[in-house]
Order: sequence, then structure tokens, then C-alpha cells
Amino acid sequence: MKLLTRVIGLFGIASTATLAWADFPDKPVTLVVPFAAGGPSDKIARDLADALRKPLGQTVIVDNAAGAGGTIGSAKVARAVPDGYTLLVHHIGMATAPALYRKLSYKVPEDFEFLGLINEAPSVLIGKPGLEAGSFADLRKWITASGGKVNLANAGLGSASHLCGMMFQSALKTNMTPVPYKGTAPAMTDLIGGQVDLMCEQATNAVPQIEGKKVKVYGVTSLQRLQIPALKDVPTLSDAGLKDFNVQVWHGLYAPRGTPPAVIAKLNSALRAALKDPELIRREEALGLTVVKDDRLDPAGHRKFVEAEKARWSKVIKEAGEYAD
Ligand code: ASP
Repeated sequence: MKLLTRVIGLFGIASTATLAWADFPDKPVTLVVPFAAGGPSDKIARDLADALRKPLGQTVIVDNAAGAGGTIGSAKVARAVPDGYTLLVHHIGMATAPALYRKLSYKVPEDFEFLGLINEAPSVLIGKPGLEAGSFADLRKWITASGGKVNLANAGLGSASHLCGMMFQSALKTNMTPVPYKGTAPAMTDLIGGQVDLMCEQATNAVPQIEGKKVKVYGVTSLQRLQIPALKDVPTLSDAGLKDFNVQVWHGLYAPRGTPPAVIAKLNSALRAALKDPELIRREEALGLTVVKDDRLDPAGHRKFVEAEKARWSKVIKEAGEYAD
């Protein structure tokens, strides 16, 4: 009898907990973007916010908390109330910051709940409009001859542009001068203005500038060419001489640790619905991005993927000897 009462009691607690979240979300949900407005992470989050409105039945707001390569915004979400109303849209930096920053106020994966991977995005190597180099081979000669003076813009330590730049310098066996920004949106403004020389930027933000002929493009960072009008004639860096050069960026959706399972399940199913939205798919594919359709859309699959990426990048970063406090 005692056992039966306990079982009924436990069942009661479980269903009360689920019921308590039955109305979720009953107020706007915020997506924190850890980079500046107008950049690739911001664009992805805003498109996702539009597509999440319908399945969530709520307004979805984007909050840019930029700085320190994405770690400021990530820390903000790690410390937020775990009620599902404050979420993080973050990229590969989720897996690289733990190795790059000696003092990080949050842990990956421990301080987050995983809601599903969103997409994969290729990058391109772009240059300021006044550069004389007409091909990657010319550019390579110019970089090698400059003795480290070429400026390479990035969005801070651990950002996608920083990692891609780090891999690029190691493939060229040369150094460049890094110039960090709070995101690649302000970096792009300076690249177009000629204040910096080069940037490794996600197609998301680079394609409109390439189409508008505002920057020069020297190569794509994926192993295959991208079949979109602006980039289909641009060689891969691997074919252009940096054999096997391959940098792919991915983005995922996260909640603070301790978010109730019922809320995680609702957010995951809203994310799945959003990633089937034809308008979101059209916008992402037009920029060369691939929307995730595999088991990394499951919280467990997403977590496993980030853990594997963390292990892979920690090794690369250790070898490169890059750290920040
Ligand atoms: N995701 C960054 C941004 O949106 C760019 C980067 O990581 O390189 O500005």
C-alpha cells in the first residue's frame, strides 16, 4: 500500500511538473546572439526567430550580446533563469571557447541544454576592394612577401572567422596581423572601406557583398565548390593550393542547464517545424547554407556532436598554442 501511495505520489509530482509548463510559452521568447547585429549569427537568428513564431505561437525577439568571441552572450544565457524564455543561438565557438579561454565563466556541455543543431555554413576568403591580387596564387605571394603585415579581420578569439584565419595561416605557414571586432558585421564595414586587408567570412554575410562587388573573393573553405550563382566559379582553397583545407561552421540552439524537460521537448519540436519552413530553407540555401535534417536535430545527437567538435578543436587549438585570459 505504502509503495502504491509512493508511486501515485511520484506520478502526481511528474504530471504537476508537466502541467506547470503546459502553457509554455505564454510570453515572448528571446534568442541571444553573441555577436554584433547585421553579421552571420544575427542573420541566422533573425530568420530562425521568424520561422519559430508560428510553431511557438509567440513573439521571438533577438538580443545581441556581442564581445569576446561570443563568450559574453554565451555566459549571459548560461546564467539566465532556466525557463525556456532565454535561449542562445551560437556556432562552432561553443566547441572552441573552452580550449581558447583560460578563464571561462561557463562549462560546455555542462551548463547548457541542447535543443538541436540548426545548419552548416561554408566560409569564403575575401579581400578589400583595392587589393591587386587577381587570384589566390597572387594573393599567396603577396601575403608571404609581406612579412606578417597583412591584416586579417575576425570576430574575436574563438569566432568562426578567427578559427578559419588560424587554419589559413597555418596552411600558408606564415603569420598575419589579426584585427578583432565584436562581429564580422563591423569587420565587413572596415574591409569594404579598406581599413583591413582580408577576412575569412561565412557565406551568409559575404555573398551579398560579393554580389555587390564590394569585396574581392579568393576561395571557398569547403572541399566542394558552392553551387550558388555568386560562388559557383570560385575555386576551393583546397584546389587553389591549400590541399584538404576545410572549415565548416555550424549553428545550434541552446537553453540554460536545468530547463524543464517538457520545455525542452516543446522547443525542440518548434525548432524541427521551423527548419521545415520553406521560406527559411529558401533563404539559407540561397546563401550556400545547409539546414540540418539528421539526428543532430535531437538534443542527444546535438550534444554528442558538440562534444566531438570540442575534442577535435581542442587538439587543433593546443597545437596552434592560442590562448586568452
Ligand atoms: N558569428 C560571427 C558574427 O556573427 C562571425 C564569426 O564568428 O566569425 O559576427
